[in-house]
Amino acid sequence: MKNTKVICPYCGTGCAVTLSSENNKIMSAHGVKGHPVNEGELCLKGKYGWDYVSSKERLTKPLIRKKDGVFSKEGSFEEVSWDEAISLVVSKMNEVKENYGSDSLVGNFSARCTLEENYLAQKLMRAVIGTNNVDHCARV
Ligand code: SF4
Repeated sequence: MKNTKVICPYCGTGCAVTLSSENNKIMSAHGVKGHPVNEGELCLKGKYGWDYVSSKERLTKPLIRKKDGVFSKEGSFEEVSWDEAISLVVSKMNEVKENYGSDSLVGNFSARCTLEENYLAQKLMRAVIGTNNVDHCARV
């Protein structure tokens, strides 16, 4: 069993966690005793929210719903390259921005992202999309 100290990525509180892993799989998580932020405690997400890391259902490649080779909401998921997936997202976001304005888009970020990823995502919304409509599940 290997123990690795990390900072919980779920929210901005910054609790210290010891992840116990075996064969490169996280088996359990414990709060780091004496840490000034969480004093050994963890909320439910920090304590039990790690199974996704090694889940076989985890998406590792982008998928796009396609019908007859092109994007369609009624289509079936097809594995695509990152370039194709990002191009589709950019074109759809531009379409919404042009038709309804920047503030019609809301950046709602996931607790499953790291703090750094969320920082970059809110930068994208503010600097590129042009809206301050950003939200995160750690707002509680
Ligand atoms: S999600 Fe829970 S355990 Fe993780 S940093 Fe936030 S409060 Fe701490």
